[in-house]
Amino acid sequence: NLSEKLQNVFKNLRSKGRLTEDDVKSALKEVKLALLEADVNFKVVKQFIKTVQERAIGQDVMNGLNPGQMVIKIVNEEMIALMGSETTEIALKSGNEITVIMMAGLQGAGKTTTTAKIAGKLKQKGRNPLLTACDVYRPAAIEQLKINGEKQGVEVFSMGDKNKPVDIAKAAVEHAQKNGFNVVILDTAGRLHVDEEMMDELVAIKNAVDVTQTILVVDAMTGQDAVNVAGMFDEKIGIDGVILTKLDGDTRGGAALSIRAVTGKPILYIGMGEKLSDLEQFYPDRMASRILGMGDVLTMIEKAQEAIDEEEAKKLEQKMKKAEFDFEDYLSSMSQMKKMGGLSSIMSMMPGMGGMKMPDIDEAEAEKGMRRTESIIYSMTLEERRNPSLLNPSRKRRIANGAGVDIAEVNRLVKQFEQARKMMKQLPGMMGGKRGRKGRF
Ligand code: GDP
Ligand code: MG
Repeated sequence: NLSEKLQNVFKNLRSKGRLTEDDVKSALKEVKLALLEADVNFKVVKQFIKTVQERAIGQDVMNGLNPGQMVIKIVNEEMIALMGSETTEIALKSGNEITVIMMAGLQGAGKTTTTAKIAGKLKQKGRNPLLTACDVYRPAAIEQLKINGEKQGVEVFSMGDKNKPVDIAKAAVEHAQKNGFNVVILDTAGRLHVDEEMMDELVAIKNAVDVTQTILVVDAMTGQDAVNVAGMFDEKIGIDGVILTKLDGDTRGGAALSIRAVTGKPILYIGMGEKLSDLEQFYPDRMASRILGMGDVLTMIEKAQEAIDEEEAKKLEQKMKKAEFDFEDYLSSMSQMKKMGGLSSIMSMMPGMGGMKMPDIDEAEAEKGMRRTESIIYSMTLEERRNPSLLNPSRKRRIANGAGVDIAEVNRLVKQFEQARKMMKQLPGMMGGKRGRKGRF
C-alpha cells in the first residue's frame, strides 16, 4: 500500500548523506507511482510532485535533519495543505433558526447511516435534530432510517412512500418549526450512477426549502470514482462539504487526498465503521500521517531537529542524578565530564541546547577551576565526601589547609554544591525524557 511504498522510498533517501537534485527527482518519481497506485487523481499527483520538488530542491536541508527526513517533512506538509490544512465544521445556524442539511450521494455510499451518525454528533452539541426520510424509492429505506433514528434517540419524520421528496422536505421543516427542532437532516435517495433525474430532484429540494448545507456522502473505497462523483455533484447541485465513508476499509487514501484539490470542498467527517458511533472529525494532519504510515513522523522530525543523541543524554542524566548524592559522586562525574570532552561539549548535548554555540565558556579557565575543586574534595575524608553535612568550620579549615586554598573557597564550593544538588533534583524531568514540545512544523 501507499504508506509502505513511501516508507521504502524514504528509507533509501535516509541512507544518503546528501540530497542532490537527482536524488529528489528519482525519489519523487517513486512517490508519484505510489500515489497513482493509491488511486489519487492524476492531475493532483502531477501538481503535488511539482510543488514538493520545487520546495525540496530549492530549500536547504534544515539543521539537524537528514535529507530523507527533510523530504518527508515537505511531503507531509504538502499533503496536509492538499487536504485543506484545517478542520472544517458543518455550518449551523445560531439560536432557534432552523439549519437544514441535505444529504446527497450515490446509492450505498452511506447516506442513511451517516444521517443517523451526524444526528448523534449534533445531539452531543446540544442541538435538537429531526431526521427526514426523503428516499421514497428504495424499499425499506424509510424503515432503515427509523431504526437508526431510534438507536440514536432522535425523531424521524416520514410521510411514507406516496409523496414527492420535495413535499416531504417542506413538511418536515414545518414540523420542525412547530415542534422545536433546530436542525433538519434530509436523507435523500441515491442512484447507482449519477443521472439527471436524481440531480433535478435534489435541486428541487434545495429550491423548495432553504437548505443551509448540502453534504455529499462518498465511499472512500471507490477511490477516484468518489472524486469524480464529487465533482459532478458540485457542478450540478453545489455542495458545501464531503463526508468520506468506509475509510475503515480503504487502505489507499487516494480519495481523501484528492477530493479537496479537485472540488475545492472540505472533508467534514470520515466514516470509520458501520456502528453509529463510527464517525470522526476530519483532521488533515492526522490523515497525512496515516497515509504516510508514520504516525510518529512529527516526533521523529522534532527529535532530529533537536539533534540529540538519545543515548548520550541518558548516560548524562544518570551521571547528573548520581551527582545529587555526595562529593564522591561529584568527583567521579567530573572525571567523566572530562572524558566526554569538557563542559561546552556537554552543554551542546543538553536537550534544547543542541547546536548552540557557547562562546562565553573559557575552556582553560573552566579546567583550572575544576582542578581546584578536585583538590578541595580530595582533601576531605571519605566520610565527609559521603556526608557533606558534617562540614563544620573546623573541618573546613583543615580542608582549606590541605588543598592550599583560602577557607572562603571551600565555603563557596560547599554552597555551590548544595545549590547544584537542589537544581539537579528538578533536572531529571527535563533531561532525556519525553519532550513536551508539540509544535507542528
Ligand atoms: P445509502 O444508500 O447511501 O443510504 O447507504 P447506507 O447508509 O444504507 O449504507 C450502505 C452500507 O454501507 C451499509 O451496509 C452501511 O452499514 C455501510 N456503511 C456506511 N458507512 C460506513 C462506514 O463508514 N464504514 C463501513 N465499514 N460501512 C459503512
Ligand atoms: Mg439510504
